Amino acid sequence: MRIDIREVGRQNGSNLPVHLQVPASEILQSYRDFSFPGLLFVSGNLRYEGQGKLRFDGSGQFSWQAPCARCLETVSQEETVRLRLSFRNESQCTSETGSEPAATGEEPETTADIPCYPYTGHIIDLTTALTEAIILALPTKVLCRADCRGLCPHCGQDLNEGPCTCRTEQTGGSQSPFGALNNLL
Ligand SMILES: [Zn+2]
Ligand SMILES: [Zn+2]
Repeated sequence: MRIDIREVGRQNGSNLPVHLQVPASEILQSYRDFSFPGLLFVSGNLRYEGQGKLRFDGSGQFSWQAPCARCLETVSQEETVRLRLSFRNESQCTSETGSEPAATGEEPETTADIPCYPYTGHIIDLTTALTEAIILALPTKVLCRADCRGLCPHCGQDLNEGPCTCRTEQTGGSQSPFGALNNLL
């Protein structure tokens, strides 16, 4: 996903409204168990801040699909991520990595938490920034619902659809002194 920054203009404070969409899988095909069907929408504002520096403020919208960690049913969800990105000409980005301070005294801590991405020539490529934003937005654990009962470890029955017969057959019923133990396993 690329933007020609000549469209933004070269005056400080020039703006370019951005509305782009691509198949989300073009940005990120898959990640762990996640896949990304549908489109990724990016909208926001790109602003030229002088000295080859640009700032993007906006959001991205996409959907992911992944299996429930307990029952393996496919879960789909839509996400909206906030995008606050800074882009600098490649030469500036590399020359600054070693010595952060002094170079630009006018911008203090506010920009420190905004990731800076280098660009070459007059093309900004949002792909890396979007990939990172998408990955950060994904949940660490996917559940179809908070109280998903999962699959029976013995017969594979989806316990959300009802109890299986394993428990009564294998434990000898609730009378068995080991019945409670089996329930824990
Ligand atoms: Zn589940
Ligand atoms: Zn079972």
